[in-house]
Amino acid sequence: MSEAEKLADYRARARAWLEANMEPLGPTAKSRFSFAEDDDFTPERLAEQQALQRKVYDAGYAGISWPAEYGGQGLPKAYERAFEQEAAHFVMPNLGIAGGTTMGVCGRTILAHGSPELLRTHIPRVLSGEELIVQLFSDPEAGSDLAGVRTQAVRDGDRWVLNGSKIWTSGAYYANYGMCLVRTNWDVPKHRGLTWFLVPLDAPGVTVQRIKQINGNAEFCTEFFDDVELTDADIIGELDNGWTVAQTMLMFERGGGGEAAAMSSPDPRDIAPDLRELAAAVGRLDDPQARRLITTAHVDDVVRHHLSRRLVGLMRSDSRQAGALASYGKLASGVYDPIRANLALEIADGGASTWQHGDSPGAHAATDLLNCRFMAIAGGTVEMQRNSIGERVLGLPREPSFDSERPFREVVRAAMNWSGKVG
Ligand SMILES: Cc1cc2nc3c(=O)[nH]c(=O)nc-3n(C[C@H](O)[C@H](O)[C@H](O)COP(=O)(O)OP(=O)(O)OC[C@H]3O[C@@H](n4cnc5c(N)ncnc54)[C@H](O)[C@@H]3O)c2cc1C
Repeated sequence: MSEAEKLADYRARARAWLEANMEPLGPTAKSRFSFAEDDDFTPERLAEQQALQRKVYDAGYAGISWPAEYGGQGLPKAYERAFEQEAAHFVMPNLGIAGGTTMGVCGRTILAHGSPELLRTHIPRVLSGEELIVQLFSDPEAGSDLAGVRTQAVRDGDRWVLNGSKIWTSGAYYANYGMCLVRTNWDVPKHRGLTWFLVPLDAPGVTVQRIKQINGNAEFCTEFFDDVELTDADIIGELDNGWTVAQTMLMFERGGGGEAAAMSSPDPRDIAPDLRELAAAVGRLDDPQARRLITTAHVDDVVRHHLSRRLVGLMRSDSRQAGALASYGKLASGVYDPIRANLALEIADGGASTWQHGDSPGAHAATDLLNCRFMAIAGGTVEMQRNSIGERVLGLPREPSFDSERPFREVVRAAMNWSGKVG
């Protein structure tokens, strides 16, 4: 059998399995964003979705391109894409934001840098849905300046003691572990004294609190670490070399988003179906002004669709540039999402301020507006994407830095004693 025939055969078997085991996606499929009570992962909802993921895993359709020795199938990416295309017509397991982070970002980063023992323990549990891992990246005082984190782990005999706090962790309240970026060495420049630990979120000394957001959800969390005990076995990658791991993670976070956007963005020949539905709901389908707004959105959709496809192609053909190129996709989402959300609001013309229960077009327009800055901030702000494109793609001079060569301990001391005078 040729490669193409093998792939077609695999696709046919996957389709047959999906038809026999999963519910087809009906017209009432849920939108990307919904409301607080819908997005809350109660223990019952989590157990239900984990059981569904287990079913997919047992059938051999989880981690299709992940190494077979760690519970994956070890097949080429094309097989995974074929399955995803077929699965797009069915209700698949949905483990929410923590599930997306686990499979799309943390699991892949651990695969790239974790010790074989760590991989043997955790990756099969990740693929079967038993284990959810979130990103403990941002300190309250270090987001864009990621290398400035001050949450620290100090060695004490054969254990490490973790203290500090993290914030804006998506989905931590129902996750099992957090991949946590901490300072392990204060006597070297800031990028060189960082280490990643896999921290059990139910360990003694860990407190997870939820944060209520403007859209009514409370999926963000903040965590406090008080003398949490860890060991060398919990380290992901090398001690003090966490910056390398962070680069891999950011590439998956930004690149993964670009690829997902290209695969899931609707066919742009179908003119902004959500906005047409909205216009119809508020009786403006024949209104020239509303039609102009829909056309504006459609033109942007087409451009964005082609940008995403081109980026995915370039990233696949040159993996060394993938991290830098991913910034374009992330920047496009960060700039475009607010524009599109505002177009929807103008079309709704007041219909998105209040709505009847069950009136989804108005509710979606309002929720999209509240959520439209997500992509402009998460995983690196639009300003940071522009910096990254300038420096890593266009070869422009690096931003001036006063703290990248000095031991981090001195940088912090100097900042504490700063008189406020510049120069
Ligand atoms: C939807 C969402 C999900 C998130 N999920 C997670 C998560 O799961 N885990 C996690 O750890 N974090 C998460 N975050 C946090 C996110 O990574 C940070 O908010 C982000 O990195 C920005 O950091 P900050 O909030 O500290 O802002 P700051 O870094 O304080 O930035 C404030 C402003 O200053 C600008 N700025 C800062 N430095 C520069 C510079 N050098 N040049 C130009 N402009 C600059 C920024 O662009 C921004 O406009 C999430 C955030 C969002 C919105």
